[in-house]
Amino acid sequence: MREITCATILDLAGARGPSRITLDGDRIAAVRPLLAGEAFDDLLVMPALANAHDHGRPIRTSSIGGFGRPLEAWLHRLRLFAPVDPYLAAAVPFGRAVMGGQGAAMVHYTGVQGLTDYVTEAKEVARAAGDAGLRIAFAVAMRDMNPLVYGDGQPILDALTPTARKEVEQRFLSTPPLSAEAQMERLDAVAESIGSPLVDVQYGPQGVQWATPGLLEAIAEGSARTGRRVHIHLLETRYQRDYADRHFPQGIVRHLKDIGLLSPRLTLAHCVWARPDELDLIAEAGATISVNTSSNFALRSGIAPVAAMLKAGCKVGIGIDGSAFDEDDDIIREMRLVWSLHAGWGFDREVEPAQVLEAVLAQGHATLNSPVTGRIEPGAPADLLVLDREALDADALMEVGPVELLFSRGTAGFLKESIVAGRTVVADGGPAGLDFAGLQDELRSRLRKGVAERGGFARILPELEATLAGHFRDRLGCC
Ligand SMILES: [Zn+2]
Repeated sequence: MREITCATILDLAGARGPSRITLDGDRIAAVRPLLAGEAFDDLLVMPALANAHDHGRPIRTSSIGGFGRPLEAWLHRLRLFAPVDPYLAAAVPFGRAVMGGQGAAMVHYTGVQGLTDYVTEAKEVARAAGDAGLRIAFAVAMRDMNPLVYGDGQPILDALTPTARKEVEQRFLSTPPLSAEAQMERLDAVAESIGSPLVDVQYGPQGVQWATPGLLEAIAEGSARTGRRVHIHLLETRYQRDYADRHFPQGIVRHLKDIGLLSPRLTLAHCVWARPDELDLIAEAGATISVNTSSNFALRSGIAPVAAMLKAGCKVGIGIDGSAFDEDDDIIREMRLVWSLHAGWGFDREVEPAQVLEAVLAQGHATLNSPVTGRIEPGAPADLLVLDREALDADALMEVGPVELLFSRGTAGFLKESIVAGRTVVADGGPAGLDFAGLQDELRSRLRKGVAERGGFARILPELEATLAGHFRDRLGCC
């Protein structure tokens, strides 16, 4: 049993004044208003926040020169990362996630280290999440085509000098993709091995431009049969929009519906370039869109039509996608950014703070199969974010509500404590379950060594990127 007294509770029921919250194990046992004269700490308590799209990437990608590069060039650059111990590679981002105010996060596992078999690696990722105290959904990344560009990669290879071509063939084309059947079997083995109340295993097709129709159909069938959720990137960039329009003239979202993938079990990351009729179909199906505002800035993808999504009735969650605005995994700043960009100008009110709170406190959690509902009430999970309200309101000139304080200046820097399933996962400014500084030092030193060993690839990157830029810019990625 544990008791927290606070000045303010902010949840989806609204804001409440001084309260006492009683926790019993991993549940909230009681919540009651304090009586006049009862002492309390000057804290703001909220339900835990969910990061509805991410990959658990070990380190900031601007550190390998990724900043400001379009997705289609940035993805290739990630091969500068050497494979490292999967526990280390996951524990560091999970530590950053909990320090960034996240209580639950999607791990769309696209960056396989490959030093052991896949199931062993997934177990290490789950162990790291357990140590960090982060609830995760682990989406097994699935793809089986288009390793270089969206379509035939031969013109790219033909345009490269022999040295660059050799590097590219070795880095991107030397391992044939697994069959759809083998990928489905691998997913079942992972689910069997790491599925738990804190780890939800999901299908993670990487995108319609990276998965054959057969693979997507197998996933749709598997999801319908097992009830397991599906997490996929969709229409992140204008080049993906172009690919979808050329290959699915009936409409890519309609196609997803036709094959049974578009369902309440589906999360679509991005939808930056989705059209109004597509948003209507997504809303009608009850699928959720995870928007990734900062990532869309960093990779020059565009601005997602968030107000239109909400108006259409789409469920919306908020993702960090490994690239928060300050590259620090701060989901509190991220929700402010979403509101700032989409709230409407002047007296127009397109998106309300309450809708942004609904995204991080409820919709995001639902996509991760996390039990958090955005309410602080008896019986709810003991997943709480405890912020320093006194510091947030340091001016203290007059009474200003918690929503205004949070959306004007909130960041994870105000985090006093984070509790997930009844356990303190952040205290005193750091992850309680990890030697974060030690792990980060070790990871950085291994990755530095890895980059140095990849000098040959680093040297041909400018040539590859110039070729890719020409390919996408001149022909919109059309081979
Ligand atoms: Zn992503």
